[in-house]
Amino acid sequence: MLRRVTSRPHIPLDALELTGRARTHLVELDDPRCALHAAAAGPFLAMRAAAAREGLLLEPASAFRDFERQCLIWNAKYRGERPLLDRAGRALEAAALTPAERVEAILCWSALPGASRHHWGSDLDVYDRAALPEGARPALLPAEYAPGGPFARLDAWLAAHAHEYGFYRPYMSDRGGVGFEPWHISYAPVADDCVARLDAGVLRDALGSAELEGAAEVRERLGELLVRHVAAVDPAPQAALDA
Ligand SMILES: [Zn+2]
Repeated sequence: MLRRVTSRPHIPLDALELTGRARTHLVELDDPRCALHAAAAGPFLAMRAAAAREGLLLEPASAFRDFERQCLIWNAKYRGERPLLDRAGRALEAAALTPAERVEAILCWSALPGASRHHWGSDLDVYDRAALPEGARPALLPAEYAPGGPFARLDAWLAAHAHEYGFYRPYMSDRGGVGFEPWHISYAPVADDCVARLDAGVLRDALGSAELEGAAEVRERLGELLVRHVAAVDPAPQAALDA
């Protein structure tokens, strides 16, 4: 159900919206409760209705996330207040790592504030609520989406149908940046434009006034981080862009 609908679906995101520091590009949904880009909300609800006809309850574990929230996650991992994992999912001791090593480890599993696709409102992490016991939460692990896992049927359905609604999955292969995330879906017509607009200048401005741990290390590597962690995703299929 759309509670507030803006009429700006085709206007490109500005620098504040791109980096999660504004909500002007979003609509708030009541069911499921989440915030999405004005152009992505309708297609997402249509996709959810189609999945429901197959007995799949497409539920967002996370949709829009703002800069501030991403900063809290980043800083907590840097300080060792949240689990810090290496690429293989093994726990690391933050205090024993150099700033560069901490930044590298965080980036395996979390985006740099300002550079998360979740800022755009075009991207969501989804699971099948019908496949879990009442009240249970998904872990968002690859095994859940693999054959035999609770979300294997959702995985197959998304592979066959997401593009019909303009969605696709940008993290289906590990390209050295973000790891394999079969739960992360993206509304291609909006997200493709955002990737092209998010450059080092926009990101540097966003980080300028933030209280970010490891800021010096991040600033030094901004260009490389954009290439590895923003640009290095699976390309949107033409069918999703045309939907
Ligand atoms: Zn995600």
